[in-house]
Amino acid sequence: MQAFYSDHFVLPLPPGHRFPMQKYARLRERVAGELPHVALTEALPADDGMLGRVHAHDYVVRVSTGALNPKEQREIGFPWSPQMVERSRRSAGATLAACRAALAQGVAVNLAGGTHHAYADRGEGFCVFNDAAVAARAVQADLGAGTRVAIIDLDVHQGNGTAAIFEHDPSVFTLSLHGEHNYPFRKARSDLDVALPDGCGDDDYLVALGHALTDLFAQFTPTLAIYLAGADPLENDRLGRLALTHDGLLARDRSVLTACAERGVPVAIAMAGGYGRDIEQTVAAHFATVRLASQFHRSGRRFHRPPSAQPTSSPPPSTMSGPARPAHSTQQGDVFV
Ligand SMILES: [Zn+2]
Repeated sequence: MQAFYSDHFVLPLPPGHRFPMQKYARLRERVAGELPHVALTEALPADDGMLGRVHAHDYVVRVSTGALNPKEQREIGFPWSPQMVERSRRSAGATLAACRAALAQGVAVNLAGGTHHAYADRGEGFCVFNDAAVAARAVQADLGAGTRVAIIDLDVHQGNGTAAIFEHDPSVFTLSLHGEHNYPFRKARSDLDVALPDGCGDDDYLVALGHALTDLFAQFTPTLAIYLAGADPLENDRLGRLALTHDGLLARDRSVLTACAERGVPVAIAMAGGYGRDIEQTVAAHFATVRLASQFHRSGRRFHRPPSAQPTSSPPPSTMSGPARPAHSTQQGDVFV
């Protein structure tokens, strides 16, 4: 299985900042040490053309040049630095690389990503660019009309940016299972939202997820799924408010991977949030997700697209750095092309 990383593009944070930046390097160390069959690859950055399929031109320019105003920067929650820009581009590039690898091999992983609070024209909640949205648009540009992407967002916080970006787009289905009383306090509208009460444990969570996955696949036949496997539904997460155990979280991952494999839908996984009081607990949860995905990959589960989901008239896939764009551009407004 392929896994893409960007943790060595470190975003400098002031002392005491609550974002656990070091979890990504720890996760890569564990994957390298304990899963030798996982191929680790440094992610390439998402370029302006890729970002411009999702984000407003003006926003991309202002992020890139450090011209966000103080309020916009505060809402993102990181101080601006060139490293913040590079890191955000790499993380989006890693999710795209995982999508392309998943389409070829069934399942692949970004060891970061899941920046689902980023809107088309603004960021918030530690999210600058929306990696899943950027990757979904790039895959649609690669494969052409008829390419349908399901974004299965199981981070404990609602995927408000993703929901808003795709609100009126029937080619991308957004599912969010999240804490009802948690951030963001004003929710956007996903195609399917499942709001969970504070303290929700394994059993209730897994029942809700099972219904949601059934609903999703009853309504939508994706070419590819992007799965945001946040570790923040875990009990004792500082920002989570739910109460899943590690076993429950792993059962969650298995439910998603099984549902996709059974239907022949490839899956790209991003790690998303995780704010354990003990960072090793967060790393352990992310690591368990990666290990399970690699087990699915090694077991030969097919994940291949059913013939009915194959695009009918696809242009040849573009390269990572190539001028990927849809031959039949639709809603996304290719502001750079
Ligand atoms: Zn979260």
